[in-house]
Amino acid sequence: MCGMARWLVVRSRGDYGAAVPGRLPIIEAPGEPPRRATSGDLLDLTSTSAGRPALLPTSRAEMDARGWDAADVVFVTGDAYIDHPSFAMAVLGRVLEAAGYRVAILSQPGWTDVQDFLSFGAPRLFWAVSAGNMDSMINHYTAGKKVRNADAYSPGGAIGRRPDRATNVYVQRCREANKRLGSSVPVVAGGVEASLRRVAHYDYWSDTVKPSILLSSKADLVVHGMGEGPILEIARRLAAGETARDLRDMRAVAWLAGKKERDALPEGITLPSFEDVKADKRAFARATHLLHEELGPGAGRTVLQAHGDRVVVVNPPWPPLTETEMDRIYGLPFARTPHPSYTAPVPAWQTIKHSVQIMRGCFGGCTFCSITMHQGNAIQSRSEASVLAEVEALSRDKSFKGTISDLGGPTANMYKMRCTRPEVEALCRRPSCVHPRRCKLLGTDHGPLIQLMRKARSVPGIKKINIASGVRTDLAKDSPEYLDELVRHHVGGHLKVAPEHASARTLAVMRKPEVGDFDRFAQAFTRASKRAGKEQYLVPYFIASHPGADLREAIELAVYLKTNRYRPQQVQDFIPAPMDVATAIYWTGLDPKTLKPVPVAKKLKDRQMQRALLQFFKPENWFEVRDALLQAGRKDLIGDGPGCLIKDWPPEAAKDKRRREARRGKPGKPGGSKGGDQGRGGRGGGGGGYRPKRRKR
Ligand code: SF4
Repeated sequence: MCGMARWLVVRSRGDYGAAVPGRLPIIEAPGEPPRRATSGDLLDLTSTSAGRPALLPTSRAEMDARGWDAADVVFVTGDAYIDHPSFAMAVLGRVLEAAGYRVAILSQPGWTDVQDFLSFGAPRLFWAVSAGNMDSMINHYTAGKKVRNADAYSPGGAIGRRPDRATNVYVQRCREANKRLGSSVPVVAGGVEASLRRVAHYDYWSDTVKPSILLSSKADLVVHGMGEGPILEIARRLAAGETARDLRDMRAVAWLAGKKERDALPEGITLPSFEDVKADKRAFARATHLLHEELGPGAGRTVLQAHGDRVVVVNPPWPPLTETEMDRIYGLPFARTPHPSYTAPVPAWQTIKHSVQIMRGCFGGCTFCSITMHQGNAIQSRSEASVLAEVEALSRDKSFKGTISDLGGPTANMYKMRCTRPEVEALCRRPSCVHPRRCKLLGTDHGPLIQLMRKARSVPGIKKINIASGVRTDLAKDSPEYLDELVRHHVGGHLKVAPEHASARTLAVMRKPEVGDFDRFAQAFTRASKRAGKEQYLVPYFIASHPGADLREAIELAVYLKTNRYRPQQVQDFIPAPMDVATAIYWTGLDPKTLKPVPVAKKLKDRQMQRALLQFFKPENWFEVRDALLQAGRKDLIGDGPGCLIKDWPPEAAKDKRRREARRGKPGKPGGSKGGDQGRGGRGGGGGGYRPKRRKR
């Protein structure tokens, strides 16, 4: 049934002694006595003649070349295939391969017919379907619901290499392929899109509440969360002769109980039904609060939600990965390259190819962020030895010039930070360990990270390590030693940070620290830069039109920017992503916990004004800023005074912009979008989507 396992096995923590600095792990390889790894092991385990591990097969010819008559698992993904630990399909594929399964990758297949889905034949165990590293709708559309210019996960940044609502489409094609091939193997959906649409959810692009993706896709199971543990268990149990129905007792899966099964449902928390949350915004807000209370891996219970006469059952999350498990995963033999058939570079790959991921998860609980829901709120870190082994391996890579572009994860500085009382953590239902106040049980020692940064820098061949992951400023400001380390060695003149807003009300809705906390970080950063003898600057990022921000808050932010001489060149517009708390607030106008009203900017004009206020200094924004200030009764901020945001009269750039808009016949509405899907030709419902393209290799 299975291919040969031929990989590095990092043994248990006791075997390699994680506390011994700089030591590489013990490895076991078939037919060899256990030995300590060398820095080359990570790249050389399944060497090809080119000295890199062979990529998983992506075509029938590649599968034939391996002498396989069939794959055990066919992994369908909307992303280009890049064999790097930052890409889910690579990680899951390597995890399955390491356990001895044959995995084929069907990357960015044509989706208008079943042809590409027939190319490997039917898998022996199951189809594993993912839209890719992002929700396909966020991947395709801007906050203004216009088609994006590029897809970072496609060769050449080409847009249109996957369908809208890719999970639904791919699952349907897998079912058709099963039918054509006389197979009945299960179709399992996972990844961010499936995971975050596992219960009824608000869909920004159609502006409706949609049912669980289990109903729209008709997948046998949806895996929620990161997936390594569940995908292995699914493979093992199906290989042992169990059926998809037998797997309904697994953690981290969601499944659909039929009408006749309603009397035998597992115990759990019942959310308001799909019909209720669709019809009633208070019910939607309540469901969001109930669901988010069950996301903790320890305290999380089964969640049930009726959809008509059927019930979506969401089993509790998978437990956080241990350090040993993290090391095993990141020690797998990734080739760290895109598939050689791509003739154009994949932008996401360009960004991360020389980065090293040291941890997963986030305990921040920001309401606009999906990381906690997908990766979990417990930090899962690799051992120092495992990270250093990857740094060493990278330093030997021919394409590496000496600079590591990032040493981080969802945040730069939560490495090895955890709740200090595991027995309390197991019962904890707090959505954030740091908001509204930092929990006194949270361990925030930067020591292990500082040590790791120092050792990584001292690896021969490493000239520079940048920190591109977001620094959690509220934690960093309390560790002068970390800040010194950061500004001396890891900041190239500018450090990107994300205070996100300045208004206390908006920051509370976001679950972010108050802006005074960020100011204290900024002062500490300046002091640390002076100590290091360097002139360095912060580049703060802000979100426009986040729930909790109306014009008053946006003006407060603009005044803060002016006072502190920040001029953000990039502004992020809030995008309501499925399942986020902030999305529930956007849709309902209610705080899910208290059910109290929260202001929300929904109209395009309001969103444009908020965005313009964040860049009030740009001459072309003069009219929008003026309209916002007049509407908010803040004429005092127009004029020549030192605190004014704009002058009395429009600059030429603003008048030019207005003339251009007038010529297009859409004054005040650049691009012509009216806030719905009209801006993209009415294709937002997932029925039409992009003009389909066949895969070119
Ligand atoms: S007890 Fe405190 S530190 Fe521990 S998980 Fe809960 S909020 Fe976080």
